Amino acid sequence: MNKKIFLNETDIPREWYNIQADLPTPVPPPLHPGTGQPITPDMLAPIFPMNLIEQEISQERWIKIPHEVLEKLYMWRPSPLYRATNLEKFLDTPARIYYKNEGVSPPGSHKPNTAIPQVYYNKIFGIKRISTETGAGQWGSALSFACNQFDLEAKVYMVRVSYNQKPYRRVMMETWGAKCVPSPSPETSAGKKFFEENPEHPGSLGIAISEAVEDAVTSKDTRYALGSVLNHVLMHQTIIGLEAQKQMAMINKYPNVIIGCCGGGSNFPGLSFPYVRDKIYGRDLQVIACEPTSCPTMTKGPYVYDFGDTAKTTPLLPMHSLGSGFIPAGIHAGGLRYHGMAPLVSRCITDGLIEARAFNQLETFAAGLTWARTEGFIPAPETNHAIASVIEEAKRAKEEGKEKVILFNWSGHGIIDLAAYDAYLAGKLTDYEMPSEEIERLVCDLKRC
Ligand SMILES: *Cc1c(COP(=O)(O)O)cnc(C)c1O
Repeated sequence: MNKKIFLNETDIPREWYNIQADLPTPVPPPLHPGTGQPITPDMLAPIFPMNLIEQEISQERWIKIPHEVLEKLYMWRPSPLYRATNLEKFLDTPARIYYKNEGVSPPGSHKPNTAIPQVYYNKIFGIKRISTETGAGQWGSALSFACNQFDLEAKVYMVRVSYNQKPYRRVMMETWGAKCVPSPSPETSAGKKFFEENPEHPGSLGIAISEAVEDAVTSKDTRYALGSVLNHVLMHQTIIGLEAQKQMAMINKYPNVIIGCCGGGSNFPGLSFPYVRDKIYGRDLQVIACEPTSCPTMTKGPYVYDFGDTAKTTPLLPMHSLGSGFIPAGIHAGGLRYHGMAPLVSRCITDGLIEARAFNQLETFAAGLTWARTEGFIPAPETNHAIASVIEEAKRAKEEGKEKVILFNWSGHGIIDLAAYDAYLAGKLTDYEMPSEEIERLVCDLKRC
């Protein structure tokens, strides 16, 4: 029995998988907030390069990965598939637990899987500079790394609470040559409003997105990049699941349960969508998306048309949402604090292809510690949500006496998040459950899908 299953570089997937070709119910179109009509591709042209807009709306099942992109992905891909044998023993479970280790990339998470292609497509379109936002700093690091690889400038608006909590993320971005400012910043009109009210405003992803979009549409040769939520981002991440399918085939295994954590919804569909395709065509399979109880987008947010940002400048997207006015509690899983959920993931939840679960902060850190003390690697606080669910499922398998195969996405390492572990170990972290009345207030005037 192998602890790790490696795929040869020559066997890396050559195409991304686009689930839009197989969905039983198509995703409703994004709407223009003024007219309420579906938006047209040219309306997005000031924000994204046309080659990525074409991917966003494509209905083709397979899209070829350019050679120049593969060359960069080889720096850490194919990523290893591991079996969590120590955790299995510790839990005394008949379940077999496998995971894709996405912490092996230079920035330490799955995010460069899309940062690399996004920067590449911007570059061949003639773009010189990219603006973006970052929550916990992982997307900002990934985009900075990718811009450096392709010689583009990067400007990152980082949610202030994380900017203060995680100074080393900023240092990573600066090491790769990017500029990073705390958001809300006085540099954009979207940020200025909040900054002048309160220079220590904690910020939110929604505000940071408004700032980065404004920067892109008002600066020369600049476009905006988003690290999650959008269709093309999810598609770039499917390389994880396509590799996993080959690796699982090498050991003659097929998962019964697939698990991942969801912020905007990119690493989880990255692993699960190639398998959700099998489920659409009749395979019996459980697919579980995990989130924090403090940001219960999928478990409590209604399926509505909502803005992607706080300043309400983006098109209306069909998604599970807590409302674009949502300001999250200061939990440490910064990457799981977005108010919305990717339209493709939202659609799959509504169609019953995926189920969602919420976990409290303390339970997720307890799971992370169990992981670190069995499998060794220290997981990102976001990843701990998936691990909490894996442990729950492995215990259930023991109760039921079933030899289930669990596959999950180990989305990133937590070496830059040690301040969060420090706070947990010192007993300073608390649980927070978002009250239903608060959600009702934030979403009451949104149109249901
Ligand atoms: C950003 C991030 C997430 C959440 O984002 P998704 O787009 O939902 O994948 C999860 N884990 C890690 C390590 C991250 O950096």
